[in-house]
Amino acid sequence: MKAVTDMDPQGLREHKEDFLRVLTAWFMAEHRDLPWRNLAAPNPYHVWISEIMLQQTRVTAVIDYFLRFTAEIPDIAALASVPDDRLMKLWEGLGYYSRVRNMKRCAQVLMSEYGGAMPHDPATLAKLPGIGPYTAGAIASIAFGVPKAAVDGNVLRVFSRLLADRSDISKESTKKAYTELLDELLPHAQNAGHINQAIMDLGATICIPGGEARCSLCPVEGFCKARKEGTTGELPVKQRAQARRQEHRVILILEKDGKVLVDKRPERGLLAGLYEYPGAMITPKQMEDFEQGISGKRALKVYESLFGELGLTAKKARFALRSKHIFSHIEWEMIGLYVETTDTYDVEALAEKNIYFADAAELKERYALPGAFSAYTNEFLNRRGDIDGSH
Ligand code: SF4
Repeated sequence: MKAVTDMDPQGLREHKEDFLRVLTAWFMAEHRDLPWRNLAAPNPYHVWISEIMLQQTRVTAVIDYFLRFTAEIPDIAALASVPDDRLMKLWEGLGYYSRVRNMKRCAQVLMSEYGGAMPHDPATLAKLPGIGPYTAGAIASIAFGVPKAAVDGNVLRVFSRLLADRSDISKESTKKAYTELLDELLPHAQNAGHINQAIMDLGATICIPGGEARCSLCPVEGFCKARKEGTTGELPVKQRAQARRQEHRVILILEKDGKVLVDKRPERGLLAGLYEYPGAMITPKQMEDFEQGISGKRALKVYESLFGELGLTAKKARFALRSKHIFSHIEWEMIGLYVETTDTYDVEALAEKNIYFADAAELKERYALPGAFSAYTNEFLNRRGDIDGSH
């Protein structure tokens, strides 16, 4: 691994006081106003929740979730005891649902072992469920002023440019090198949390990805080697992510008396414990075929073969509504199989199998359906005239 000193030709270490002062002044004047930010009196619970929500999710998408979540679950004690279904409902659409399950587990550990408070020490924080080195550094520095680096994608990009470093930022060794450098700089800052947040803001608003960096507005332009060399558009170097696996799926929209069937996914695996419209894998060729809009008996036959085990008979069936959802490693290409039934069922027997018929209000308020299904949920609500933009 390259030593930090080799990557520091612009003298970030030698000029650390200036670098930190300039960054602090810029942050105090230009920081983004965010609901979880309170520079004078940071709330550790808010810092934690926001950092977990922000993993894999953009700030603009997180704001409403954060406000709703913290209004209903205002502190660690409340999080430790919130019912799972309610927790999932509040997280619905944010994705990466293991994050929220870990958060609850973490809250329970905090209640039982830490008197309901967040520890200040980054090493202790990093041992808690769902808290890795980045989140530990973010909580320790932002909430408690501990001089510990929090290196996320934004920080990696900013540092690769500041140092004109061509190390692959997807490698652990690069992250480790930048973390070491920041760990060395931060004890000299007036407030380590402000510096970490300044670099995050800088990466989000000025030192942005692609060839678009807005260097003329950058407070640390004078320290930036890539700017000096004219290589900002070439950095950071990042290995291409592996191609995602593509799955073709039929999504069953089975309706009865204005309600739609949902079932609960298993407690392990993708989208664990969330609700779904039942789905089945098909081949790309079948997808093409179904897309021709087959209906009537042929569609009923497909329903029978794919979903007959649900034990629900159908009167009418048709295919409609293509939709796509991208997870980190899988892509779902979906098509809806719209089925109507008028039969009477033993609702209690279905409930024992975690299968329910949900009306519009229940879809909105009760069952947590992941964003992967939002095209189908919205279409159902729309048809019922129940969409109000709040879903
Ligand atoms: S000068 Fe440009 S490339 Fe360098 S840190 Fe600032 S915005 Fe990024």
